[in-house]
Amino acid sequence: MSHTPSRRTVLRGLTVTGAAVVGFDPATRSWAVTGGGSGRGLAGIPRLDGTLVTDESSLAEASDDFGHIVHRRPLAVLRPGSVRDVVAMVRFCNQHRLQVAPRGQGHATFGQAQVKDGLVIETATLADIGPLGPDRTTVAVGAGVRWSEVAKAAIPHGLTPPVFTDYLELSVGGTLSVGGLGGQTHRHGAQVDNVTELQVVTGAGELVRCSPSRRPDLFHAVLAGLGQCAVIVGATLRLVPAPETVRHYLLPYDDLETFLEDQRTLVQEGRFDYVEGQVSADSDGAFSIYTLEAVAYGPPVGPTPDDTLLLRGMRHDPSGVQASDLAYYDFLDRLAPAVAALKEAGLWTYAHPWLNLLLPGESTRALTAEALDALTPADLGPGVVLVYPILRARLTTPLLRTPADTVPYLFAVLRATPPDDTATVDRLLAANRSAYEATAAAGGTQYPVGSIPFTHADWRTHFGSAWPGLEAAKRTYDPRGILVPGQGIF
Ligand SMILES: Cc1cc2nc3c(=O)[nH]c(=O)nc-3n(C[C@H](O)[C@H](O)[C@H](O)COP(=O)(O)OP(=O)(O)OC[C@H]3O[C@@H](n4cnc5c(N)ncnc54)[C@H](O)[C@@H]3O)c2cc1C
Repeated sequence: MSHTPSRRTVLRGLTVTGAAVVGFDPATRSWAVTGGGSGRGLAGIPRLDGTLVTDESSLAEASDDFGHIVHRRPLAVLRPGSVRDVVAMVRFCNQHRLQVAPRGQGHATFGQAQVKDGLVIETATLADIGPLGPDRTTVAVGAGVRWSEVAKAAIPHGLTPPVFTDYLELSVGGTLSVGGLGGQTHRHGAQVDNVTELQVVTGAGELVRCSPSRRPDLFHAVLAGLGQCAVIVGATLRLVPAPETVRHYLLPYDDLETFLEDQRTLVQEGRFDYVEGQVSADSDGAFSIYTLEAVAYGPPVGPTPDDTLLLRGMRHDPSGVQASDLAYYDFLDRLAPAVAALKEAGLWTYAHPWLNLLLPGESTRALTAEALDALTPADLGPGVVLVYPILRARLTTPLLRTPADTVPYLFAVLRATPPDDTATVDRLLAANRSAYEATAAAGGTQYPVGSIPFTHADWRTHFGSAWPGLEAAKRTYDPRGILVPGQGIF
């Protein structure tokens, strides 16, 4: 896309077109429209392929996220028309010490993509997909592309990224900034472990390609790096053969320990392609119904799934087994009907004070039992509790912090509660903090997509041995500390 004179830049509700010059007033730290003599002292905004907007509805949207708990109002929102726009505006913000946060789909829950009095870069317009790389083993995509779009583009070629989050409408840049865990992680690692190259704009405004062999310090500081060192503008993702159909099982358990042990056995054996699990409340409100979710991929990836072979030796209640064959994309997109129903019922806009923890395997039973004992159906609301194991040996990204245990478990209490009831939201945030402290004392950590009040000292503890490297990369690549303050790390 070229520089276009017909761009429409909306500032303070004004539509600025054509020759109008857009400025930033460093004295008042506000965007302004200049013209004639009135522009003295204003710094000119670079010419953009896309748009820079300050209208009320764009700012309000950028001051909110899926959590609906934290609200920080930016000065402006960039909808880049090109990677060049990201470079230009990050340089501009760096020069004027304005803080910047990229925002993918805004599904963070605690203000992570928000920036008070700074610039939000909405990445959704960085939406290129393809072409496929040599040998059809990779695909290059824009950072704003959603995983549903990647899947839809790859599957017709018989290919797929190996790991998906449960919900597909998250941006590639957004999940690569946190990790990207799913039921396939025990086989293929996290999404960040399946990236061969990144194209990024550093906090100093430098456009760089990096990979495990080219500027590896930057590559490793960006993947699961919570946006601290660079804005991801493009990523080359690994692809593997896709199954046409899958066999999907829901296996009920009435005992936590047996459920966790069977999950562990399955991921260590690699018997299934996907393993997750949920806990739900019984009619008395006790969280005592455990459902193991397992999926075997069919041809051409695996043999035609055989129930007897796949379920041998497992200790679920055989009378409650649900098994079905699904087209591969329908399996990946299995949450879509539930999300549509939540939206229809007005529950998708509830506050989401989410708790996401990574527990050491050896303490998982005790920690989950304690957390589930304390949980009430009212405090979970129309949410879910997830528990599933991952294999640490498959995780290779230094900044994705996991407990020092061969089989850690993800434990997630994905709460939903009316956003206006701030007393309840505050109480649930405090409960998240207590659960985190119990987890940290046992050697666990948080998976940083939720809503846990965290101090700078907590972040140092969180990153542990990776902290000095992250701190050094921050100094090198974002020397003025403008990127992603909403994470509260530096
Ligand atoms: C319904 C739902 C289901 C989920 N399921 C899973 C799951 O199964 N597994 C899992 O791992 N996670 C899951 N998550 C969490 C999700 O992966 C993270 O919250 C993710 O960051 C959201 O992506 P996003 O595009 O909405 O990012 P945003 O919320 O827009 O941004 C998140 C953070 O990443 C930064 N960021 C965004 N884009 C970029 C970029 N291009 N470059 C650098 N930094 C960037 C932002 O500044 C912010 O700090 C789920 C979240 C929701 C709401």
